[in-house]
Amino acid sequence: MTGRHLHALAPIERRPRLVRLRMALAPIADAVLITKRENVRWLTGFTGSAGMVLVLDDHAILVTDGRYQEQAATELAPLGREVGLEITTQPNAVFAAATSRCSRVALEADDVSWALSRRAATDWFTTSDLVASSELVERLREIKEPAEIARIEAAATIADDALAGVRSMLANRASEAEVAAEIEAAMRRAGADGPGFETIVAAGPHAAEPHHHPGPRRIERGDLVVIDMGAMVDGYCSDMTRTFSIGEPAPQQRRILDVVTAAHDAGVDAARPGTPTRAVDAAARDVIRAAGWAEHFVHPTGHGLGLEIHEPLRLSATSDATLAPGHAVTVEPGVYLPGVGGARLEDTLEITVAGNRALTRAPVDPVVA
Ligand code: ZN
Ligand code: ZN
Repeated sequence: MTGRHLHALAPIERRPRLVRLRMALAPIADAVLITKRENVRWLTGFTGSAGMVLVLDDHAILVTDGRYQEQAATELAPLGREVGLEITTQPNAVFAAATSRCSRVALEADDVSWALSRRAATDWFTTSDLVASSELVERLREIKEPAEIARIEAAATIADDALAGVRSMLANRASEAEVAAEIEAAMRRAGADGPGFETIVAAGPHAAEPHHHPGPRRIERGDLVVIDMGAMVDGYCSDMTRTFSIGEPAPQQRRILDVVTAAHDAGVDAARPGTPTRAVDAAARDVIRAAGWAEHFVHPTGHGLGLEIHEPLRLSATSDATLAPGHAVTVEPGVYLPGVGGARLEDTLEITVAGNRALTRAPVDPVVA
């Protein structure tokens, strides 16, 4: 069964991405040093933990260290001569030569450390002015290509199957940590790189904490159990939450589940191309406000995702973005009542020309007998 969802993934074509980056860069600088790991991966395919890529107007150079020599050569091969490879921890001469005729070199302001910016100024780009860039590559990553959606969808399918596999554990007094460990192991067995983020299993009063860390507490009859989980496939994350009631829910628990489900459905209905992200947030939030729980929905309605589990696109009251085909976003309203418990219902959606398409498809079937 390993790789069942993975065999048909089309390769990702990276040359056009370098072209698009150069167009976005032109008004700011002559070259940019990409240091953020997901941006390096998106541009070049390099997956190592240490590497940076200097993008110039006619070529690019990936710098990494000796641990990644073979891996980098293999991963860069599809780009041919487009991206050169330098194995060094002292790229002073390489960078100085490459940028000798650049008047301005951009750094990723949201990513670089103080130490790295000092090295850039004093050792690497001594003849150029350094300028700040913000979310230059992130904006290019916002609209997903079909090959990227296919990876998120493969991750979502693996997560759907893993969740189905732990349902029987919920009725048998497993601990939060045991359920989380089994979900993550099942996703790896199915061919995922691993979980896309730390799996959340929050039972009983813990379900009132949106980001509870799973612990030794056993799942008991009468609990609501929030499970927030996702897989990673070829670097791309999925994100899904389901809430279970162990036994028939008490009246207040039933009301929480019904309100969260109605809020989720209102948010999903609103998530269409041309719709402001704040309107999707309002659609879900209004349902929870009408139920009297406005102050218990303590986070945005959703977020963009891809190579990162949280990308800059936000479905929140303060967001100025507009949804467009190719966006991958979550819709995930929740209600959290301190000391009592809570519920969240989350799906990952692809925004399409016609509306949206759910990539996470585990049934919403909360009552575990
Ligand atoms: Zn989630
Ligand atoms: Zn999420």
